[in-house]
Amino acid sequence: MSQETETACTTCAATAGTETHKSRQYKYRMAVLSASMLVLGIALGFLSANIILIYCVFLASMLSAGQFILPRGARGLMKLRLDMHFLMSTASIGAFIIGAPAEGAAVMFLFFISMLLEERAEDQVRHELEQLIQLEPPSATIKMKDSEACIPTSEVMRGDVLIVRPGGKIGLDGVVVYGETSVNQAPITGESIPVTKIIGDKVYAGTINQEGYIEVEVTSKSNETVLSKIVELVADAKNKKAPTEKLIDRFSQKYTPVMVTLTILLGLVTWILGASPVDATYRALTLLVISCPCAFVVSIPVSIVSSIAGSARDGVLVKGGIYIEQVSKTKTVAFDKTGTLTDGELSVKEVCLHNNFSREEVLITAATLEQMSEHPIARALVDVTKNEDMELRETFGFSAIPGLGIEGKIGDATYLVGNRRLLMEQSIMLDEPSKHSCGVGTLVYVAQGNMHLGTIVLADSLRAGAVEAVRELKSMGIRTIMLTGDSETVAKDIAQEVGVDEYMAELLPEEKVAAIEEISTNGSSIMVGDGINDAPALATADVGIAMGAVSSDAALETSDIALMQQDLRNVPGIIKKAKKTMRIVRQNITLSISVKLFIGIFAAFGLVSLWMAIGIGDMGLTFAVIANALRLVRKNT
Ligand code: ADP
Ligand code: MG
Repeated sequence: MSQETETACTTCAATAGTETHKSRQYKYRMAVLSASMLVLGIALGFLSANIILIYCVFLASMLSAGQFILPRGARGLMKLRLDMHFLMSTASIGAFIIGAPAEGAAVMFLFFISMLLEERAEDQVRHELEQLIQLEPPSATIKMKDSEACIPTSEVMRGDVLIVRPGGKIGLDGVVVYGETSVNQAPITGESIPVTKIIGDKVYAGTINQEGYIEVEVTSKSNETVLSKIVELVADAKNKKAPTEKLIDRFSQKYTPVMVTLTILLGLVTWILGASPVDATYRALTLLVISCPCAFVVSIPVSIVSSIAGSARDGVLVKGGIYIEQVSKTKTVAFDKTGTLTDGELSVKEVCLHNNFSREEVLITAATLEQMSEHPIARALVDVTKNEDMELRETFGFSAIPGLGIEGKIGDATYLVGNRRLLMEQSIMLDEPSKHSCGVGTLVYVAQGNMHLGTIVLADSLRAGAVEAVRELKSMGIRTIMLTGDSETVAKDIAQEVGVDEYMAELLPEEKVAAIEEISTNGSSIMVGDGINDAPALATADVGIAMGAVSSDAALETSDIALMQQDLRNVPGIIKKAKKTMRIVRQNITLSISVKLFIGIFAAFGLVSLWMAIGIGDMGLTFAVIANALRLVRKNT
């Protein structure tokens, strides 16, 4: 039954991609033709066939490949932009003119092959992205009055109710309004353990319903889902280039004209020194072929984009190549406490009362104000009152005081809910909860006007994986620091428990920023936070990593790297991967430069044939660097 609906509901699948597929097929056929003609030409040469016939066969080989290269070379020349297509076209035509048609054809053919290799590599990376896009099912079943309809996902509106059967894909973000199930969120979070979903829980486009039947009220249209944001960010990422990448781009623009000049000089010098014009030209053309920067230029974007695409599959969204390079240099990782190192699921341990107020009164007052806040503390307090069936009042004039607490009115009276510093700043007389009567934990003070009504003691527990993450970072030689707005006592406890090198407590959001600035003077810094009260610090750090981006738009948008999954162990993972990526980039640059330099020197002395130049210096090298870069796409590397 469910299967039927699924197939019936996927017939509107798009047919994009056939266009590129067709032209790709044509290119492959032309490559084969070019190769066959090249071999035939060489064979005819051995058989001492008619020279005109041989020329024609080589020309056919050259043009089969050259149809994709010569026009681009010519266009480059007209715009005075001497790119690699121009270099290769000149080398090939030059070879034909000086009576080396076999080499002329080979240059074109082999360059064409390295172009195809490059396209393959780009395809592979694009394929990663398409896999993400294809996570959204093309159509969805929506509930009508007393029937159901299958419509394209893009036409589903907010407020429509989706029917999702067992095994079906969820088409859009929404809230479960009927049924109960577990959902595999791995496609967007990388986390493969299914998550239980009951009425009221959020579900996301692209995730897979496991065993239950659910109905989902749609909350975002197809182009607003978390999934579509992920796709957009990954697609955008390659535009934010890493510094090394930019350097290479700039370099290759200057480089080609310089090499063209050098080859002309080499030809002239060889000729003046007594070589025949043909030999001198041959030597110059060889250098021209060697100077082609393609392997070089291609390898860096391929490495970086492969790395970004590979990470996206693990639920780690890197928003640009620039961050990979930064992360690879990390010296310090700073963590926010609440909601980052701890899981932010606070529980109320105790309520200490002052001035004859009741427990219920204190909790209701606090929760009434907290209804308006999105802080983890707020959630904890509201939940407690809900569980104990307390009725909340109406509040207005609410304002959040970042890093301190909140303020609001109930009736005519003004209330404050927050930490010690908040009440001190208002010169409110505090009835300090002594350790004896009131436990240790995150203390939330509740005050009305100048009167301290009570103190709520909350406890938070460490997030799973936090200890391992910190340990791993330390073993990599990275300094770890915890930044928190919470009190010194709590900070010290948590810092010890999690094992960070240092901690700083009682920080306001702007003091977190100052702390990050200070930390960054000792080298590249990462700030890991949940986006609540630490967005400015996330933005200040060289790289800001936000946790739990599936459920928070702010976290997804303000960070440089977003973790879809709440797992801190991703942090050392990201650093390792970035280091590996940059290592591969450096290897590729070094390899390209040294091979080119090496053959280049020999070529200047006439010791390298055009064959070797193109075979090793261009195609061989392109193959090597691309293969090296594609190692980054594989999972768990
Ligand atoms: P952390 O740095 O640990 O993530 P925050 O900067 O978010 O903490 O908050 C710092 C402190 O400010 C909290 O420990 C709490 O005492 C107080 N605070 C912030 N927001 C609220 C709130 N909505 N209700 C009560 N206290 C709050
Ligand atoms: Mg926080």
